[in-house]
Amino acid sequence: MSTIFSKIIAREIPADIVYEDDLVLAFRDIAPQAPVHILIVPKQEIATVNDVSAADEEALGRLFIVAAKIASDEGIAENGYRLIVNCNADGGQEVFHLHMHILGGRRLGPMLAKH
Ligand code: 5GP
Repeated sequence: MSTIFSKIIAREIPADIVYEDDLVLAFRDIAPQAPVHILIVPKQEIATVNDVSAADEEALGRLFIVAAKIASDEGIAENGYRLIVNCNADGGQEVFHLHMHILGGRRLGPMLAKH
């Protein structure tokens, strides 16, 4: 059940990687929706937020630590940014390897589309 993100983690397909440590990998989204659009993924594959367990606590905490570092590195920390984790169909999840979007570099507008 390996997803495209596991292949990126394994370096089987290319990505513009901006950060890596023992627990997470971060790379630029292939279809950016803002000037900065980076995905942060735990290396251990977790399909959705529904599949999270206590064993994932360190890796999931690391997502926020790395989000803050990337925001600083990308120069968007002060103006602000948005972190998004989509889950399943209603959440709009397309890749079933849990990931955090970090979006910024422009005023992002309302949190949700009006439809
Ligand atoms: P989701 O809708 O699952 O929260 O977000 C999946 C994200 O992965 C989308 O923003 C999509 O553009 C991005 N994505 C899908 N395939 C690839 C890929 O092969 N490489 C990269 N860098 N991003 C991808």
